[in-house]
Amino acid sequence: MLYKRPSHKEINSKIKQAKDAILKNRISMEKKTMTCLNGHGKMSSEKTDKIVHFRGMDIKFQAEHYVCPVCGIEAGDIDQTATAQRAISDVYRKAVNLLTGKQIREGRKELELSQEALAKRMNVGIASIKRWEGGLIQTKAMDKALRLALKGQIAGDNYTGNRTFTIPRIKLVLREFESILGKRILKKIDKMLFAAKYLWYADMLAFRELGESMTGSTYAALPYGPQLNNYRDLIDEIKNADESSAEPLTSEEKRLITRIARTFPQEQMIYDAAHREIIWKKKTTGAIIPYSDSAELTAL
Ligand SMILES: [Zn+2]
Repeated sequence: MLYKRPSHKEINSKIKQAKDAILKNRISMEKKTMTCLNGHGKMSSEKTDKIVHFRGMDIKFQAEHYVCPVCGIEAGDIDQTATAQRAISDVYRKAVNLLTGKQIREGRKELELSQEALAKRMNVGIASIKRWEGGLIQTKAMDKALRLALKGQIAGDNYTGNRTFTIPRIKLVLREFESILGKRILKKIDKMLFAAKYLWYADMLAFRELGESMTGSTYAALPYGPQLNNYRDLIDEIKNADESSAEPLTSEEKRLITRIARTFPQEQMIYDAAHREIIWKKKTTGAIIPYSDSAELTAL
């Protein structure tokens, strides 16, 4: 069939019809009713159990919507759609052990915190709090920060990645890299040009995926890549540290270290990759690279 180009008159008439439909819908929504699209008049509001497939999970929730008693067509208004989305998100979050929107809201109210006050405590924008309470699913790292903040603790240090800085753990992480790479990356005469890049990826990735860094180190953007902040003062201490006094690496941490080592078996590779990261590039020399930037890492 040949496509017949519609005339302007036809187009305008379609636009008017669409506008009228939107307007009609809006009016009926204000009155909390809906009209059947098939012309059967008023629809009735019903609550039903629904199952949706979401992020690899079957999620059961109760949905409220309008149903036409004549043809059975279903429709939801904006409020109902938002409520359903919140319900799906909360069932999912409960299942994967993340705080639900309801829990965040109730926890916040218990502490008598406004959304803005909670945002300030966590070093995030108020929009994030609004979205998480409204149904957006937070990352593991942010969930951890939320839990800390709702316990009344000072949450999420964006410069140490939620962990107390410990030098023996730096040594431990470097030794783990060395055992996988099969070579020394912490050398006798070393400004940690390469070792710092392995550490940086390990800390950033751990923060992004596990909610806390591995070493609690703070990183600065230097001309030759991300580097331990004040590294000159730390090098000797790192070399002399006793890694057996550090908290042992978890299996998840070891898995991340392995992943980084396999991605960058050569030191030059990790050096180059770090120099391609926008989160380093966009910083002025000497500026701290906050852990929250880990969401924008590209190499891993
Ligand atoms: Zn109908």
